[in-house]
Amino acid sequence: MSDYDYDLFVIGGGSGGVRAARIAATHGARVGIAEEYRYGGTCVIRGCVPKKLFVYASKFSEEFEDAEGFGWSVGERGFSWSKLIAAKDQEITRLEGIYRRNLDRTNVEMHDSRAVIEDAHTVRLLSTGQVITTRYILVAVGASPNVDTSLPGVEHVITSNEAFHLDELPGKIVVAGGGYIAVEFAGIFNGLGVDTTLIYRGEEILRGFDMDLRTTVRQEMEKKGIRVILNDAFSSIEKQADGSFLGKTRNGETLAADRIMFAIGRNPHTRDLGLEKAGVEMDASGAIKVSTDSRTNIESIYAVGDVTNRANLTPVAIREGHAFADTVFGNNPWTVDHSLIATAVFSQPEMGTVGLTQDEALSRTPNLDIYKSSFRPMKHTLSGRDEKMLMKMIVDAETQKVLGVHIVGPDAGELAQILGVTLQMGATKADFDRTIAVHPTAAEELVTMREPTERLRG
Ligand code: NDP
Repeated sequence: MSDYDYDLFVIGGGSGGVRAARIAATHGARVGIAEEYRYGGTCVIRGCVPKKLFVYASKFSEEFEDAEGFGWSVGERGFSWSKLIAAKDQEITRLEGIYRRNLDRTNVEMHDSRAVIEDAHTVRLLSTGQVITTRYILVAVGASPNVDTSLPGVEHVITSNEAFHLDELPGKIVVAGGGYIAVEFAGIFNGLGVDTTLIYRGEEILRGFDMDLRTTVRQEMEKKGIRVILNDAFSSIEKQADGSFLGKTRNGETLAADRIMFAIGRNPHTRDLGLEKAGVEMDASGAIKVSTDSRTNIESIYAVGDVTNRANLTPVAIREGHAFADTVFGNNPWTVDHSLIATAVFSQPEMGTVGLTQDEALSRTPNLDIYKSSFRPMKHTLSGRDEKMLMKMIVDAETQKVLGVHIVGPDAGELAQILGVTLQMGATKADFDRTIAVHPTAAEELVTMREPTERLRG
């Protein structure tokens, strides 16, 4: 390997790239990494982490209201957007520092520059023009927000990138999209007191999730004051003289807002990266095609994370990076199982889910037992808040194997994590039944659902 400057050069200092670099280095590889923006990548810098901090911030408005039901008198309340941004920025800077220190500790050489691929074993740093040779290249450049470039006035919209750095909190916002980011940000803005509208082109938000959850989340969002427009999308956007915006929709509505945010998916960040020059195959969306062990069609070039558009989630990218490094440098080949991934949507209320939706389960097996429970979380008996929690378990009627568990309500994400373990182990309904409840919790509902609410046969 000594003919090259490095054994491994990683392009992209996000979750997947950093994990791969560190593990490869601990296996003895000489590793370099290039990052054009900030180490930590989308998740840490302008994704999951600041988003979750914003979710916490936005929940206080309801907490203050709920407190009164428990005897508290809450005095005058005020919210400072600039204080929140400053606190969030400080935390992100701290985390970025940790990422850098961890790379440094494992002797990974950091290059603060955009890097492009020259050929199967060569990269070039754009900041200095330095040309680096390497035995392997790992592309872990992630994805960037998609905006509909054909939309008249698209230059006026913001994406999640800008939402984390707005100078001031808008009085009124319209969020376009019905996926994770749109739903999460609609909840954040609404909780912070912004007049919030969500516009989604389909029948129901959060396509791909279980329909009962989708409907429940949308209804609860509406109860909290978010206007949700379905089956519609922007057809044009204009800037007004006062700096606000007017959006026209396909169905003929006019929506006025101080900001219009698009969260309509993300595109692999593969443009001008030299991939074509090196002969790396991509699909129509620009995602790098890889085998189960994250190898591209070029033997020395691998790719992990969102740039491969497999399951676009941070923990998946981390696993893919780890598996790559163990396989190529650790003499320990393994691959990531993408078939059962627990996930959370930090909507308000929160959603946690693992396994098959009812529709997916039905397409695989005709006989299902559905257990469903909808109830008022205990806290709201005194807070008086009209909010429902939903738990749904999908069981194969023949084998009694639990195929999916879906939850809307407080801490649903936390529950999804541990439910993921049970489903990985192949838990059956009987395993849940013989587990003694933890009382009083919402989660005990999962082990006390005795009779199916629905028996689907044939
Ligand atoms: P998603 O893929 O989740 O959702 C995209 C949404 O935009 C869908 O509702 C889609 O509609 C809609 N859409 C797509 N194209 C258009 C268009 N041209 N006009 C109008 N609407 C359109 O993407 P996000 O941007 O929300 O999130 C990106 C990724 O980030 C996700 O895949 C997710 O994996 C990840 N993420 C994960 C989080 C978590 O784990 N909690 C949090 C945030 C992001 P349709 O359904 O009809 O296609």
